[in-house]
Amino acid sequence: MQVDYLIVGSGLTGATIARTLKDAGKEVLVLDRRSHLGGNVHDTFHPSGIRIHTYGPHYFRTSSEAIWNFVNRFSKFYKYEAKLKTLIDGEFQNWPVSKDYVEELCGKDWKPGFTGTPSNFEEASLASMPQPIYEKFVKGYTEKQWGVKATSLSASLARRFTVHKGDDPRLMPHKYQGIPENGYAAFMTSMLEGIPLELNIDYLKNRQRFEARKLTVFTGPIDEYFDFDLGRLGYRGQQRQHQYLSDVDVYQPCGQVNNPDPNNGPHVRILEWKHMMNPELTSQIQGTVITSETPFTPEDAEQYEYPFPDSANDALYQRYRERADQIPKLLIAGRLGEYKYFDMDQVIAHALMLCEKILSMYEK
Ligand SMILES: Cc1cc2nc3c(=O)[nH]c(=O)nc-3n(C[C@H](O)[C@H](O)[C@H](O)COP(=O)(O)OP(=O)(O)OC[C@H]3O[C@@H](n4cnc5c(N)ncnc54)[C@H](O)[C@@H]3O)c2cc1C
Repeated sequence: MQVDYLIVGSGLTGATIARTLKDAGKEVLVLDRRSHLGGNVHDTFHPSGIRIHTYGPHYFRTSSEAIWNFVNRFSKFYKYEAKLKTLIDGEFQNWPVSKDYVEELCGKDWKPGFTGTPSNFEEASLASMPQPIYEKFVKGYTEKQWGVKATSLSASLARRFTVHKGDDPRLMPHKYQGIPENGYAAFMTSMLEGIPLELNIDYLKNRQRFEARKLTVFTGPIDEYFDFDLGRLGYRGQQRQHQYLSDVDVYQPCGQVNNPDPNNGPHVRILEWKHMMNPELTSQIQGTVITSETPFTPEDAEQYEYPFPDSANDALYQRYRERADQIPKLLIAGRLGEYKYFDMDQVIAHALMLCEKILSMYEK
């Protein structure tokens, strides 16, 4: 089968590129090997009526008017500003850590636990927070998440952590924050409306069946595209254990409670989905669903979640990237194609930028 633009993967990268090219009047076909569209931006209903995000909790946020307008084309969003707690010494504490808690534990004149140029994650984290906060909130969580000592992780990973100096309990400060009114699956379906889509097709096992006249955009794992012939890139995934508590109305104070204590089980967090739903829809629901997430190292590419942040993986990725960039009529992109954690707004912005390049290169 021939098509001008073949888009492999219907996640936010593939869907944003497909939508933009289709809107520009181009011929597009989208393939996905999963039985549903939308990639990791997906959800389903538990029989109780509680909506569960299939691949972990997804909080949409952006400070960009343009990205907010783009996503609102496909769904209304209800306001949802994630507020997280962390279980410390048997009590729920704010995450990011509140100023009050830091001052109570470390005094008003607390000092960062490290000065100088950090050479690893632990030092980089300590450069922005006092040692006791790092020990209680960050170290255990990080070591469970990645399965290695915090001192062996890259310093650049520490950027995702902040010690909150104000009293704003929100996880993120972005101007626009929300969740699609009818869920992520409906949002992604709307984004791909009117675009030819074939599900349950693994492109890599069917390469001969599909040919792009202009460009193939591949949004699966870059190492898998090359049959892992230089070796496998490292990833962590999460094993999710769901539990329906029919007699419990509310299990925990918010949608996500982190569990950094290594002596309190291997899970990194517990999610309670009812908190993330539109409150208008939850009053009639009986019981609650909680999900514990325990990190592991997946073999199956469909379970890849977080790229492993170390220099060996960065170097291996660069070797695959150099090869990919030599292949004509091929663009490998997205979180798996670029071996990079992107938030949803970042992935959309990046895909829109790629579309500008595609249109200027292939549609002169
Ligand atoms: C646990 C977790 C929680 C997250 N939470 C948030 C959050 O709260 N807020 C936020 O903004 N972002 C969040 N994200 C990030 C968000 O999930 C990503 O930005 C987004 O999913 C990236 O989209 P993508 O299209 O690049 O990749 P994907 O969604 O992975 O899509 C890739 C698609 O390609 C398909 N594919 C792969 N190989 C093939 C093949 N050979 N043939 C056919 N199809 C193929 C896959 O089946 C998949 O559908 C989270 C990510 C994770 C892992």
